[in-house]
Amino acid sequence: MAATREEAPGRLRLVQDLVNTADLETGEDRWSSADGLRQWLGTWGIAPAGPLGPLDLAEARELREVLRALLLANSGTALADAAAGALARIARRAPLRATVGAAGAVELVAAGAGVVGLTAQVLAAIHEAQVRGTWSRLKACPAAACRYAFYDSSRNRSGTWCTMRVCGARAKARTYQRRLRAARSTGPGASP
Ligand SMILES: [Zn+2]
Repeated sequence: MAATREEAPGRLRLVQDLVNTADLETGEDRWSSADGLRQWLGTWGIAPAGPLGPLDLAEARELREVLRALLLANSGTALADAAAGALARIARRAPLRATVGAAGAVELVAAGAGVVGLTAQVLAAIHEAQVRGTWSRLKACPAAACRYAFYDSSRNRSGTWCTMRVCGARAKARTYQRRLRAARSTGPGASP
């Protein structure tokens, strides 16, 4: 199943991987403990900044759900206002600085460790993706049991489901069942 779900390019993959640390379908959470969070941060080269506790876990999980809401907005399923407000609040404490390249290209560079460092990395990645035009392609699957973060590489950015084969097919099946029920309740011979 995973093979059919596309990975985001460059630093945007951090955001995708972060949102997908929780698998809503199986209930698995890579951040079920502070140790799990520390290990995951390590895979992204982010130092833990001392022992991580319940507060770090709560902050990381809040960041995760705020990002998921923004990605749902990218798939056209929810309003982003509240999520954007929440991210703006979280962003206030993220250490970021700007570097300027030879050609005058400005880049945001994240600093810090732990969840604060993670937040800074995420903001830098979002900024870069928004400049490159790839941000709106990172979406969350609108299927309530899924909410998986996927990268929509379709030419017209029209992809809705994380996989047409799984979530798209489920939605289709539901629509079909609804039509079937409606047709039955109307009964044979009833005018359409
Ligand atoms: Zn899905």
